[in-house]
Formats: sequence, C-alpha cells, structure tokens
Amino acid sequence: MTNPLAYLEGELNDLREKGLFRWPRLLEGPQEPVARYDGREVINLSSNNYLGLANHARLKAAARRAVDELGVGSGAVRTIAGNMAIHQELEEELARFKRTEATLLYQSGFAANAGTVAALLSKEDVIISDELNHASIIDGARLSGAEKKIYPHKDVAAARRLLEESRGARRMILITDGVFSMDGDIAPLPDLVSMAEERGAIMMVDDAHASGVMGQHGRGTVDHFHLHGRVHIQVGTLSKAFAGQGGYVAGSRPLVDYLMHRARPLLFSTSHPPSVAASALAAVRLVQEEPELIERLWDNTRFFKNGLSEMGFNTGTSETPITPVMAGEERLASELSDRLFTAGVFALGIVFPTVPRGKARVRTIVTAAHTRTHLQRALDAFERVGRELKLI
Ligand SMILES: *Cc1c(COP(=O)(O)O)cnc(C)c1O
Repeated sequence: MTNPLAYLEGELNDLREKGLFRWPRLLEGPQEPVARYDGREVINLSSNNYLGLANHARLKAAARRAVDELGVGSGAVRTIAGNMAIHQELEEELARFKRTEATLLYQSGFAANAGTVAALLSKEDVIISDELNHASIIDGARLSGAEKKIYPHKDVAAARRLLEESRGARRMILITDGVFSMDGDIAPLPDLVSMAEERGAIMMVDDAHASGVMGQHGRGTVDHFHLHGRVHIQVGTLSKAFAGQGGYVAGSRPLVDYLMHRARPLLFSTSHPPSVAASALAAVRLVQEEPELIERLWDNTRFFKNGLSEMGFNTGTSETPITPVMAGEERLASELSDRLFTAGVFALGIVFPTVPRGKARVRTIVTAAHTRTHLQRALDAFERVGRELKLI
C-alpha cells in the first residue's frame, strides 16, 4: 500500500539540505530572562515577554483565583453560552486602556487580525497593506476575497498611489503593523492616517509588539503618535507584553457589535478560559500602576542596542526592543544563533520564509526583567562569536 503522505519526506529532506529544518528548543520551567532551554541555562533574548510578567506572582494569583471561582473552561463559543463576566470586564478595562469606545476579545492576536479583516471586507473591496505586515493580516486578506495591494515597506508615496488607483472600490482599508516584528521599526503612522482620512479609507493598525511597550503606559503606537480617534481599528495582543494569551480589537461600538455577529473566530471557536482572561486583566492593570516596568524595558533596550552598535554589528532599522543582528546568509544566521547558545545566550536565528532570502538574522528582544549583568554577559558573547564569524 502506498502512503499518500510519502511526499512529506521529500519536502523535509529538502529543508534539511538547505539547513532550514529546525525543531523548536524545549523550555523547561517558566519563561524567564534566564531560562532553561534544551537542558542548558541561557540568557533568554528570544521571548516576547517584554515586561517580564509571564511568571509574575500577581498574574498567577489572579489566574489561580479565577480557576477556584470560575473553573477551567468557558464551556462554549462566546456567542452561544461562553460569554463570561470576566471576558466583559477585561474588554471594559482594555477599552479604557486603549481610549476607545469598545474592545472585543479574540482567542489570539492571530485570530483578531484574520477574523476582523475577513469579516469586514469582501471581493468588492481593496486592502492596501505593507509588505512586512504580519502573516495573520495576510491570511485575513486572503479569506476576505478582497483585492490585495501590497506597498514596499513603509513607502508612504507608494501607499498613496495605491489608494488613488483604488478609488472605484466599494471600500478601502489601509493596514499596517505598528511595530514590525522582525525588524523592530515603527510604521509611519501619522502620514498613513492622514492619507486614509483624505481618501476615506478605513485605517487599521496591528499593535501586537507596541502594546505594553510604546506610548503612555504602553497604550501603543496610536498613543505614541497622538492619533487617538483617528485609527478605526487597533489590534492588540495579550500574548506578548501582557504575558498570557489572546488578542483584541479596539475601536467604535458599532465595529465591535458587528464583529461579535460576523467574525468567525468568535462564532466558531470557544472563548478564553476564565483564568486566561483574569491574568490578562491583572497584567493590563499592573502595567498602568507600575510605569517603571516600561521605563526599565527601554533603559535595557538602549543599553543593549548601543552595545551591539558600538561593536560594529548591523542592527538594521530597529527603533524598539526588537533588535535584529543581521547576518545575511541563512547558514550564517543559524551558525551565529547556535554558537551564541553554546556560549549561554538564546537568540533565535530567523530565516526564510519568515524574512526574505538573504536577510537572515538573529533576532533579540530584551525585557524589563533582564539585569545589566545579564545584558553585559550577552554582549560579551555576541562580541566573541561575532569575531569568530567575522560579522564584526
Ligand atoms: C505576534 C503577533 C501577532 C499574533 O499575536 P498572538 O496573540 O501571538 O496570536 C499578530 N500580529 C503581530 C504583528 C505579531 O507580532
């Protein structure tokens, strides 16, 4: 009998030959600035745990309390029987945090992007999107059936041309990541927002990497650029700085009401367990009460970035705690990552298809929880390995 999945072996061998076959490293124990991966204690520069909250006592207590009082599961899709008070409480807190009329929870940031774009647009519409936007935006665009027009990264003039040539469309939406996840640069939001306003387009920002990181108390890029009230759809995640799991859309009441009736992740996938909503709620409150968390994140970011630049590494165009160390060739990025790991530093190699071919890199993200000693040790390892590989 032939195995109809036999072709997978060929695909996998192809990946192995190209040095692209990688099984994720195994985290043993909690997500911490120094963590145990694959049996080795390493300085962890690979998580999105920006504020070091993934193992925070107050968040854990909130989750535990929710388990005791509310159980381990919501038991149903939100729109059937799984709409819990804790979900609504979290949405109200997020709306205050984001300074919008309303927010809507999704099971993940991925679901928020894909579900929202697919629900709002259809084949009469045009989606104008930065080429480096997150995969979940691209998937949402595909699902919607709308025409996709992609502009070169952060190219405002090109985006304007696409808006102009799309004038006949029923609806246009201009979508950008607030902070780009592989390069750590920031969208030219004020220009994009003005353009969208001039052309009557819907403006959408995915702030997954900016929430809890940029703007006052981590409200995101819309706050950073003082654009409150001018971005129709803000997407955020609860899975990065807020250290749990989930996504949300922040915007007007009609937007949220509509999505509750039409967004397929809401209609066909079970809502968060109450403990997940409870720890997220605790995180959003904690971040507003302890602004020093975000200050420490940015102090660490400046220290680490300056260190890498002074050694002569190419850190691309980063302006945020996401700092890529550019290697170029795929194998070189993997080699840099492997040697750093042996030297006690976990910084993941990022290669095609996550980034374009020839732009392979090691991506670092410092957190508020790293000490100067951790970061100095990491910089020392980068210097040693960077010399060995002639990157500096
Ligand atoms: C991580 C990420 C998401 C997905 O968020 P999850 O909550 O992890 O599903 C969406 N957009 C961007 C830009 C991201 O970096």
